[in-house]
Amino acid sequence: MKAECLEAIDAAKSLGANYADVRVIEYRREGVALRNGHPCNLASGQSFGAGIRVIVNGAWGFASTNQVTAASLKATSARAVEIAKASAQVKKQDVRLAPKPPVEDIWCTPFTIDPFKVPLEQKLGLLLQIDTILRKNPAVKVASAAMQFAREKQWYMDTDGSFIVQDLLRSGAGYSATAVGNGEVQIRSYPQSWGGNHKCMGYEIVHAYDLLGNAERIRDEAVALLTAPACPSGRMDLILDGPQLALQIHESVGHANELDRVFGYEANYAGRSFMLPELHNRKGGFKYGSPIVNLVADCTVPGGLATIGYDDDGVRAQRFHVVQNGIHNEWFTTRETAPLVDREVSNGCNRAEGFNNIPITRIPNLSLMPGEWEYDALIADTKDGIIMEVNKSWSIDQMRLNFQFGAEIGRVIKDGKITGIVKNPNYQGNTPEFWGACDAICNQDHWDLWGVINCGKGQPGQTAEMSHGGAPTRFRGVEVGIRG
Ligand SMILES: [Zn+2]
Repeated sequence: MKAECLEAIDAAKSLGANYADVRVIEYRREGVALRNGHPCNLASGQSFGAGIRVIVNGAWGFASTNQVTAASLKATSARAVEIAKASAQVKKQDVRLAPKPPVEDIWCTPFTIDPFKVPLEQKLGLLLQIDTILRKNPAVKVASAAMQFAREKQWYMDTDGSFIVQDLLRSGAGYSATAVGNGEVQIRSYPQSWGGNHKCMGYEIVHAYDLLGNAERIRDEAVALLTAPACPSGRMDLILDGPQLALQIHESVGHANELDRVFGYEANYAGRSFMLPELHNRKGGFKYGSPIVNLVADCTVPGGLATIGYDDDGVRAQRFHVVQNGIHNEWFTTRETAPLVDREVSNGCNRAEGFNNIPITRIPNLSLMPGEWEYDALIADTKDGIIMEVNKSWSIDQMRLNFQFGAEIGRVIKDGKITGIVKNPNYQGNTPEFWGACDAICNQDHWDLWGVINCGKGQPGQTAEMSHGGAPTRFRGVEVGIRG
């Protein structure tokens, strides 16, 4: 593949490109999904193609092809150059890329069991067992159980001297039970909502969560929510579990720190950001949270959906604090945006969906670092509070500042003891105030990575994956139980 990549790069250079990169991507996916015992999505798909990005006269051009041959790659380079020349006529300023070292490397997702070698009957067999347990109570009207796997092999080359081969593997599984009755519809999911949990690993993720062992509890909770009292309303202490915390991180820290949103280049899908450079540059820094809040971007963490060797600028995966001891430290940058905030180099957040999209600034894996607390001790320490588990709904304003999020189930805490469950729990807050109210975080034993597989952004729209790590975390005096 190196020879084909070189053809594309040389063609772009000879047509006047000052910079060019080519990404050849071979993609394979498999989905297995059951709805009420019937296969509803047995999908497998494959794609193969190349995307070529060039800079000519200070402007970007991009073109892609699903014919990975020398002739087609040359023609695609020529098309990318034409597009760049056209966009150069309307450019506001020349694109300037932060420097990076040339690299030749191979990077692969570590895994134990290749999911594409596990027989379909075995996958369906487990999902059917789960389905049977979930539908044992007739109040459960919809039982969904699914697995998804994707393998992406990438060859990357650029005019700055890099040639990188990556072989990425993602796996995920999960289920939900929807109960209907008493004028209510209630859902419970495991291990999290929106299709289960996904990680960059092999089929071993299916064994990592006790999928079967939790099915009865999930079913019973969905049914119990039908007759559960409503979430109390008022200010109280709020404990978020890992999956709900992941959504909180994604929406109020992740999207708020994409530098293209900060500068207004990207505003789709609810999107600019309050986190402006003038806030960051304040004397003493900008207080994003309490001193125990450490939010770390890490594309090297094992299992993360954005765990890669290199991003689509060919920049090495990195670990850095977005918020350190409560103070804002860094945004997500690319080779193009890093210079805009006087950073010498990119921190590696440029990623594209597939071969036929241009890379854009993406949230990397982003996690709240664990604290010291045992979960039982945290509950015992809470006088008047509520635990919210697994995300159900979200809404956040254009500046990523004011939000209202809902979870599947709430558990009321009175004087250090869980007294019962409540339905439709939700809470609202303001980003820095909310993170500023964070006063206790559970320890590493309670910490896990929660995958987001459907983060939409851009025009034309692209989907990206990333993970957010978190352990149960307490926020003091949060407004909960807002009536909609
Ligand atoms: Zn998103």
